[in-house]
Amino acid sequence: MKYLPFGSTGVFLSEIGFGAIPIIRLSFEEAGRVLRKAYDSGITLFDTANAYHDSEEKIGRELSSVRDKIFLATKSMKRDGKTVSEHIDLSLRRLQTDRIDLFQFHQVATEKDWQTISGPGGAMEAALKAQADGKIRFIGITSHSLAMAKKYVESGLFVSIQFPFNFIETEAAEELHPLARKKNVAILSMKPFAGGAITDASLAFKFLRSHESLFPIPGYDSVESVEQVVSFYDSPNRVNDNDLEAMESVKKEIGGEFCRRCEYCQPCPSGVAITQGMIYPLLASRMSPVVASEFASKGMDTIPECAECGLCVKKCPYTLPIPAMLKKHYALYKSHRSGKEGV
Ligand code: SF4
Ligand code: SF4
Repeated sequence: MKYLPFGSTGVFLSEIGFGAIPIIRLSFEEAGRVLRKAYDSGITLFDTANAYHDSEEKIGRELSSVRDKIFLATKSMKRDGKTVSEHIDLSLRRLQTDRIDLFQFHQVATEKDWQTISGPGGAMEAALKAQADGKIRFIGITSHSLAMAKKYVESGLFVSIQFPFNFIETEAAEELHPLARKKNVAILSMKPFAGGAITDASLAFKFLRSHESLFPIPGYDSVESVEQVVSFYDSPNRVNDNDLEAMESVKKEIGGEFCRRCEYCQPCPSGVAITQGMIYPLLASRMSPVVASEFASKGMDTIPECAECGLCVKKCPYTLPIPAMLKKHYALYKSHRSGKEGV
């Protein structure tokens, strides 16, 4: 395992991290084995979120004994200072630690959210206070909006930017990555498997490893999946013409119905939580139907409000058939809610 400088922090971290969504669907014992395997394999960067069900607790339970050897990253979706302060304390308790190494504002995709976070009484004030109190070491941000992500990097306020990057979603390589490197902001690459749309792990990592100074954070749901990903990093990387062809063919296959979670389609005049509805099947495959249907219920229950006005389709750069996809995903969600499809 190689260890790379994490932006301007002075900290060196494993060149691959641990994304902690998939351990949600494991028992505490199974999750513990997977986390331990990752740690024993040299992974030092563990990324979770306060919204990821019991993921923080699982990490705290298994890795508190090696706390000083790992780098803990977590996030909050809240934008106001009061709730973010509470979330930081909650994460500290769940993670069984006295400090969070990287606290991130989670999925900040709109100017409105950013204004709330950075305004008076907003989440940034709370994070800076927590940093002054020693509860968090560094502050980062995550987003699926390219324009907003570039703005955060430019702001100089964050040590890291977390943004999707995989061979289907390559947009970040054009401007965001060069900008972050120039500003010495660490790049966390979320969704190395495009949220489950890429099933060939070898291909996924061949692509990622051909880009310098990235910290991909794949999710793992078994000891074998840790061994597999780590083995890619232990061997030389070569992307050949066959690989490029295979990547193109995956892109073609899913291109017509793949939501990038960029949120350009928002807001919906009828109040539909479009992105949540669009990514629901992938979420369910990563979390488990039971957990995902509970986790996403607030957004999914807005789908029946869709008046099929077509406004979102006009705004989507990928012209996805949003209303039809929402209907299909809502039917899946309802079947999960009623327990018709297994865990
Ligand atoms: S088609 Fe439906 S989801 Fe899209 S903007 Fe109109 S009401 Fe909202
Ligand atoms: S539906 Fe289109 S615009 Fe909306 S989040 Fe998905 S890819 Fe982006």
